[in-house]
Amino acid sequence: MRETNYWLETVREPAQGIRNDLPQSVDVAVVGSGFCGLSAARVLAKRGVNVSVLEAETLGWGASCRNGGMVLTGMKLDVPTLISRYGREPVQRMYAASLESIDVVQQIVKEEGIDCAFSRCGHLEVAWKASHFAGFSQSAERIRREFGHELRIVPKSELRQEIGSDIYFGGLVDETSAGVNPAQYVHGLAKAAQRAGACLYDHARVLDVKPDAANGNRRFRVTTSRGTLLAREVLLASGAYTTSATPALRKKVIPIGSYIIATEVLPAELARELSPRNRMIFDSKHFLYYYRLTPDNRMLFGGRAAFFPESESTVRESAELLRKGMIGVYPQLRDTKVEFVWGGTLDFTFDVMPHTGKIDGMHFAVGYAGHGVAAATWMGTKLAGVICGDADDNPFAQIAFPGAPIGLRSGNTWALPLAGMYYRVLDYFT
Ligand SMILES: Cc1cc2nc3c(=O)[nH]c(=O)nc-3n(C[C@H](O)[C@H](O)[C@H](O)COP(=O)(O)OP(=O)(O)OC[C@H]3O[C@@H](n4cnc5c(N)ncnc54)[C@H](O)[C@@H]3O)c2cc1C
Repeated sequence: MRETNYWLETVREPAQGIRNDLPQSVDVAVVGSGFCGLSAARVLAKRGVNVSVLEAETLGWGASCRNGGMVLTGMKLDVPTLISRYGREPVQRMYAASLESIDVVQQIVKEEGIDCAFSRCGHLEVAWKASHFAGFSQSAERIRREFGHELRIVPKSELRQEIGSDIYFGGLVDETSAGVNPAQYVHGLAKAAQRAGACLYDHARVLDVKPDAANGNRRFRVTTSRGTLLAREVLLASGAYTTSATPALRKKVIPIGSYIIATEVLPAELARELSPRNRMIFDSKHFLYYYRLTPDNRMLFGGRAAFFPESESTVRESAELLRKGMIGVYPQLRDTKVEFVWGGTLDFTFDVMPHTGKIDGMHFAVGYAGHGVAAATWMGTKLAGVICGDADDNPFAQIAFPGAPIGLRSGNTWALPLAGMYYRVLDYFT
């Protein structure tokens, strides 16, 4: 087994950053080259803005190349919780945004000719408990009524048409969701941004951002590991990897480790048995598993196997935990070799919601909580519009962005195993 991201192995010609020195000044400096930063840079450049993306590692290095590639409708929180928190009208706009975000990914892939196996294969949520399945019907009815969006209930007796496992109590299908190879997508997006005129700098870690008001012009002085530049606007698209270079945002982000294994290539017949409709699948637990077939018929199986951000030891431990989880779902894979394991860090916030707006005068978007493939792409395009002067109609810009509760500062990883235990207890009782 290799401790390597399988998706990256499938990228034939990765996008390359610029070797030359950083420019002295730009209109917009984007921090981070994931879906959010790159989709923003692509739109900004197409609209004639002089934009540079500053990436601490290689292009696309963060969560955007490491995820499950599930392009999902909805948000992490369920609809009744969202409506009771924000009211119907704002949630209708948020839900509409989640549907639109999948169209945006599809449109970018098509327009830019990105070869990334994008496919509207739908997602399947499987019920871990009988009570969860009862909740699916209510949820589907509420989503139909509030948003006019149709989901399909799959009773246990018909579940074999969707998944080759007998451990679940039923399912809920959303045909709108899609699947993608995330590493091919993020590198395609980077090349599209470059073609449009954006300058992408890798190994350019932002160390500090300070307001600078020389000659009466409000600007930011951005200090990086490759030098300093002045920027009229800064867009923070640093996700779960946000550092103390931007402390106000850092305090509001909870980084949570998530891990994935990928098996050897499965015989076509076995792959069809495991996932007859090639869905993006996840279960209804808090401590959930998510899984899918890759385009070359490997089983890719992920979960929050450890609550610490990824490190060599958490990646290794996760491989065995996830293999056991996978065999629990699919005993057919008992003798199948696991060939890859890797980890990444998810961007959660204290209210489990995406947020966007301005912080310390800088634009930002963060907090997709496992729904970032579509949402981060969408947020990036919306932020680019706002920077160009479009009206800000983003429903996520209009909700309060809570910080850490008193006494618990984000970034204290000691708190994460407690969060893990809390979710395991919830899974037992709910
Ligand atoms: C294992 C895993 C599985 C997931 N599965 C799914 C899924 O199936 N579906 C889904 O919708 N979402 C999923 N997600 C979530 C999704 O991948 C993220 O929400 C999304 O990629 C976030 O994109 P982003 O552009 O905001 O951030 P990222 O892609 O994380 O990019 C942020 C970048 O900023 C850079 N950076 C940070 N600080 C600095 C600095 N100071 N200077 C310069 N650069 C900096 C980082 O190096 C990083 O490359 C998953 C995430 C993980 C980790």
